[in-house]
Formats: sequence, structure tokens, C-alpha cells
Amino acid sequence: MARSVTALLSVPEAQARLIALAKPLPIETVSLIEANGRWNAEALVAHRTQPFADLSAMDGYAIRFGDAPGPWTVVAESRAGSTQPPPIAAGEACRIFTGAPIPPGADTVLIQEDAAREGDRLAMAGDGPGQAGKHIRARGMDFSEGDLLIEAGSLIGPAHLGLAAVGGHGALSVRRPARVALISTGDELIQPGTAGQPHQLPSSNAPMLAALLGGPGAIVTDLGIAPDRLDAIVEMIARAADTDIIITSGGASVGDHDLVKPALEASGAEIDFWKVAMRPGKPLMAGTLGNAIVLGLPGNPLSAFVTASLFARPLIAALGGAAKPFSPVRRAQLAEALGANGDREHYLRGIWREDGVAAVDGQDSAMLTNLTRADLFIVRPAHARASRAGDIVDIIDIA
Ligand code: AMP
Ligand code: MG
Repeated sequence: MARSVTALLSVPEAQARLIALAKPLPIETVSLIEANGRWNAEALVAHRTQPFADLSAMDGYAIRFGDAPGPWTVVAESRAGSTQPPPIAAGEACRIFTGAPIPPGADTVLIQEDAAREGDRLAMAGDGPGQAGKHIRARGMDFSEGDLLIEAGSLIGPAHLGLAAVGGHGALSVRRPARVALISTGDELIQPGTAGQPHQLPSSNAPMLAALLGGPGAIVTDLGIAPDRLDAIVEMIARAADTDIIITSGGASVGDHDLVKPALEASGAEIDFWKVAMRPGKPLMAGTLGNAIVLGLPGNPLSAFVTASLFARPLIAALGGAAKPFSPVRRAQLAEALGANGDREHYLRGIWREDGVAAVDGQDSAMLTNLTRADLFIVRPAHARASRAGDIVDIIDIA
């Protein structure tokens, strides 16, 4: 009882308490492609130097800059994949291609377009290289053996996979994906796509949350719909044993049919917090049940979406070992005025326009049509005063 009368937690306070419950999952080694979208578990160090030697950046001729404007005698050829070509002496040139090692003695590449060649004889045409060292990529320009390539906790994307590969790695250490169980509650709910009565409601939260939370870092199992009965919800929670995160939607408020909290308590869960000073999403609940973390999301589709974005996704990232589990808050200029805000942080569906960001019409937390059209959430602090067009506001991208 005490909790319901204490002041609501702010969003950052609630986020910090939730993340404090998360211990990173065990480490596994996976192929590069399987690591995409997960978080690097251990600092990755280069096993090779890139480039391995001074390489040509262009097709042309490796020369000594001091010999320009020539003529030269072409004495050798170096192509990508060649081992070190023989050294060149004064007045000599080496035919060279992009990615090929520069022969010892050469210090510059004369590009093909600036060269005139007849048999072994090479002369300069056009402007020439201009300065010594031109068109050479120095050994180790990208990185050297032993350099730190990817810090622990980094989100791994396509560029990281390329870097790991060129650094000599064929696998990466990541945390095993989080197992997430999804439970929808509500007597009114039916499975999407099944025929129902007019008073019945397809459970839109189930596919929406499964898609929002599933991915490389999380395997989501949709356990289906529990009716608003304590025993039914308790039974459903028992089926979620052996998961890392149990997510419920609905039944989280204080109505007679809001049974998620009693069901969690009857199942042995410890509730860490309930209710956050945010709109939508106030009745958010978090706690632990054995080794699992439980998150009780509100049932309203928008509330479920916002709380899953602000809490469930960062929780998955934290279990995955992310150094920065939260979506970055960015700043943007308002294209249209906004009214004053109440006493809870407000997440408004917004769109990008040429002149800045604007809230969409209709911010009711049950409306999904305009969520599909929104690009971002405009974050209005509690008690924010009215804002004018041109004012700067915080925004978060919609996943
Ligand atoms: P509740 O949190 O159970 O009071 O639900 C708040 C509102 O969200 C009610 O209008 C419910 O019908 C609706 N709702 C609850 N669960 C879902 C769901 N899985 N999909 C769509 N709407 C839901
Ligand atoms: Mg309900």
C-alpha cells in the first residue's frame, strides 16, 4: 500500500532501478554475421596490421618523386595480392595497381592518367603527382596489430563486422540472447486474425511488442492471452519460468480487474517499483521473479509501446552487455507551438518536417493509426511551460 501513496518515480529514476536489476547474460562465441545487432562482450584487439604494407591507392606507376618528370624504365609489376616487389633504383618505375604493395625505393605513385608508356619507357603526361607520397596508403594507416578495434559493450553493426574481419577475426564474443516471454491479459482480448464478437478486441500488443523487442539480442515467446482471473494469470506466469524477462501487458492499473500485481506477488515476485511519472505509461511495474526480471506494461497500445521502448528495450540491451542501453535523446527545433505540460513527463508522437518537429493530431494513448505515421517522440518535461515554434525540444526516435 505504501508505494501507491509515495511520489511517482521519474523516468530516469525508474530506468536506473530497472537496469540495476539486470546482470549481463553469459558470454558465447558466434560467427561474425550472428553477432550483428548484439553487443561486443570483450574488447576486440587487432590480430593484424592494416594495410599490411604501404599500398598504392591508384592504378599507375610507383616512382621516386625526385626522379620526376622522368623518363623512367619500367622494371617490375606489383598487383593486389603480390608479395613485396623488388626494390627500384633511380630512374626505374614499377607498374602498380590499386591495393598493391609499393616497392622499396619508391615513394610516390604516378597515376595512369598522368603517364605515357611505350614498351618499357615511361614518361610523365599531365600534371604529375605534385608531391612526394602521393597516392600511397601507409602501412598501419587504419590500425596496427594490438590496437583496440571494438570496445566491450559496443553495439555491433555491419561496419564492426567488416572491421573485425579485416582485423583477423572470424568470430566475436557476445552475450547469449535474452529469452523474453510475453503475456497479454484481458477478458476482452482475442488472438489477432480470429473471428470475434464486436465487444472483443484483437490483442494488438502481442505482435507489436514481439516485433519491438525481438531481434538479434532477444528471443521472444508469445505465451498468449490470460483472462482477468488471478489463477489464470498465475498459471501463465508459471509457464514463463526459465526466461530472462517476463513482460505482461494490461491489468496494471488499480481497477478491480487489474490483477497483474497480485498475480506476480502470488507467484513470488518482488515488485521493485510501480508507477512512473510519465504519460502515457504511468502504471508501469518492475520487479524480479527468481532469476527473471518482470515488467508489467500498461495495456493501452500507446502506453505499451512507449514503456517497451523506454524500459524493455534498454533492459534487453543491458542483459546483452550494452555499455549504453538507452536510446539517445536528441534535440530538435519545434515547427509548431506546444501547450504547457502537466506533472508527468509526456511523450508526444511527432513527425519530422522541413522546418522542424511537430506533434501529430490526436495523442490519445489508445490510438495506433497516428503511431504508424510518427517518426519520433517529443519528450516534454513535467511542468514544462508552453513552447513556441522555434524552441528546442528533446526527441527520441521511434524504433
Ligand atoms: P488495462 O491496462 O488492462 O486496464 O488495459 C487498458 C486498455 O488497453 C484497455 O482499453 C484494454 O482493452 C487495452 N488493452 C489491454 N491489453 C491489450 C492488448 N494486448 N492489445 C490491445 N489493447 C489492449
Ligand atoms: Mg485489462
